[in-house]
Amino acid sequence: MTNDAAARGRLIRAMAERLIAHAEELTALDQAIGDGDHGLNMKRGFETVLAQADTLAEQPLPEALSGIGKTLVMRVGGASGPLYGTLFLTLGKTLPAEPSAADWPSALDAAVAAVKARGKSDAGQKTMLDVLVPVLEDLKRGGDGLPGRLATVAHAAAEATVPMRAVRGRASFLGERSVGHMDPGARSSALLVDAVVAWLEEKA
Ligand code: ADP
Ligand code: MG
Repeated sequence: MTNDAAARGRLIRAMAERLIAHAEELTALDQAIGDGDHGLNMKRGFETVLAQADTLAEQPLPEALSGIGKTLVMRVGGASGPLYGTLFLTLGKTLPAEPSAADWPSALDAAVAAVKARGKSDAGQKTMLDVLVPVLEDLKRGGDGLPGRLATVAHAAAEATVPMRAVRGRASFLGERSVGHMDPGARSSALLVDAVVAWLEEKA
C-alpha cells in the first residue's frame, strides 16, 4: 500500500462516496428504529469531507484522519457524529505517518476504546460497536486473508445486530421493538470498513 497524497485522496474519496451512495438505505434503517436522520447525518458529514478531500490528502495520514474526525464532529451531528469523530480523531492521534501492518490493530484498538468511553457503550448493545469490535478482534487475530476478510466480518457483524435488542442510543427507547432491524450505525460502520479494505487492497 502506498501512502502518498494521491493514495490518501483515494482513501478519503472511497469512504465518503461509499457513505453518500448508501444514505437512503441508512435513512430507512434509522426510520425503523430511530428518528430517520442517520443517512442525512452521514451524507452531510461526508459531503464536507469530500469537498475537503484534496486539502486533507495533502496532509500526512495522521493529520488527514484527524481532519476527517473534526469535520464529522462538526457536520454529522446526532449521536453518531461525536462517535465517528472520536474514532477518526483517535486513529489520527495514534497512527504514525507511515504505518506498518502492526500499527493498524493498535491504532484501531485505541480508537474503538475511545468510542466506547465516549458512548458509555460496548459490543452487544446494537450499535456501531457491534461491527467495530469484531473487526478489531479479527484484525488483531492477523493471519491469512487480511484485509479482505475484514469486509466479510463487518457485514456478518452488521447482520448480527438484527436480532439484538438495543440498549444504547435512540433505538433503546423501543425496547423489544428494536429487535428485527439492523442497526443503522452498524451498517454505516460496515460500509466504512468496505471502503478502507478496498483502499488497502488498492482497489479504491
Ligand atoms: P441519533 O441517534 O442521535 O439520531 P444517528 O441516527 O446519526 O444519531 O446515529 C444513530 C447510530 O449511532 C445508532 O444506530 C448507533 O449505531 C450509534 N449510537 C448511538 N448511541 C450510541 C452509543 N452510546 N454508543 C455507540 N454507538 C451509538
Ligand atoms: Mg438518528
